[in-house]
Amino acid sequence: MELLDGKKCAESLVADISRKVAGYIGSGLRKPHMTIILVGTHAPSESYVKSKIASCGRAGFEGNLIRLPETVTEQELLAKINGINNDPSTDGVIVQLPLPSHINEQNVINAIAPEKDIDGFHPTNFGRMALGQKAFRPATAYGICKLLQFYDIPIRGKHCVVIGRSNIVGKPISIMLANDFDIGNATVTLTHIETPRPLLLDETRRADIVIVAVGIPGFVSEDMVKEGVVLIDVGINRLENGKLVGDVDFAAVAPKCSWITPVPGGVGRMTVAALMINTLMAYENNFNLT
Ligand code: NAD
Repeated sequence: MELLDGKKCAESLVADISRKVAGYIGSGLRKPHMTIILVGTHAPSESYVKSKIASCGRAGFEGNLIRLPETVTEQELLAKINGINNDPSTDGVIVQLPLPSHINEQNVINAIAPEKDIDGFHPTNFGRMALGQKAFRPATAYGICKLLQFYDIPIRGKHCVVIGRSNIVGKPISIMLANDFDIGNATVTLTHIETPRPLLLDETRRADIVIVAVGIPGFVSEDMVKEGVVLIDVGINRLENGKLVGDVDFAAVAPKCSWITPVPGGVGRMTVAALMINTLMAYENNFNLT
């Protein structure tokens, strides 16, 4: 069993980005600029935002955080997004999810200018991604692809099972791995909460690659996978004792895997790295550098 080390891969990708950025700045351009909007004080969001801002520093980007109170109205938030959409000094914008329940997330996602949508959640980018066109790809799914690529894990022709169909992880990764764009060409099964358990087990036990994003600690057990499987654990779950775990019973399942992502230090780090790649792309588009 070997670890798919998201920390190592992310550091390597961010180092490449920072070298490119140093070149651009050397030629007289400003730094790439990411803006994050955080509504309220949701504890996990605070920590995700902190790691995104820290990564901006490492990549040589300007990263700025706009904090809005929990009570902000949808109209006020949309107005703030509109201001950033029209501000040429910002290349990419993230509205940290989840939002308070009085705000409609889809309205907010739809309000972000597609050319600044570095999370890749806007329908224009999601559609372009699904069609295999150049797009900002949803960061977690893109990060998983970059991690598999970094470790030369064969994807073409492999049988991949995705567990969980969220718009931000399960759905986009299943599309990306099945596409014949730059990373993909797998045969993909997308499973979810309505997948009958025997069918889920049939699929996962035959899979070469299993990607799990359900948010349930220990969901993937040793009897669910075959010997030599590549296991990507997207889950981030905080146990009552404060420990952070994924969706895989790591101790029991890891010995069966050829490769597995740790939690923490796996997919989470790659999500942030993919955001940096998307921000650099937004910046390069902005300055016609590609
Ligand atoms: P979600 O929480 O929106 O939805 C859960 C998904 O799991 C649903 O699609 C549901 O159909 C599926 N599911 C639930 N029970 C199931 C079952 N018994 N069998 C099969 N499928 C089942 O999904 P999400 O937003 O992708 O989050 C999933 C996990 O991934 C969470 O722990 C979240 O914190 C984590 N996450 C991590 C990152 C990262 O960067 N590492 C990014 C996003 C989400």
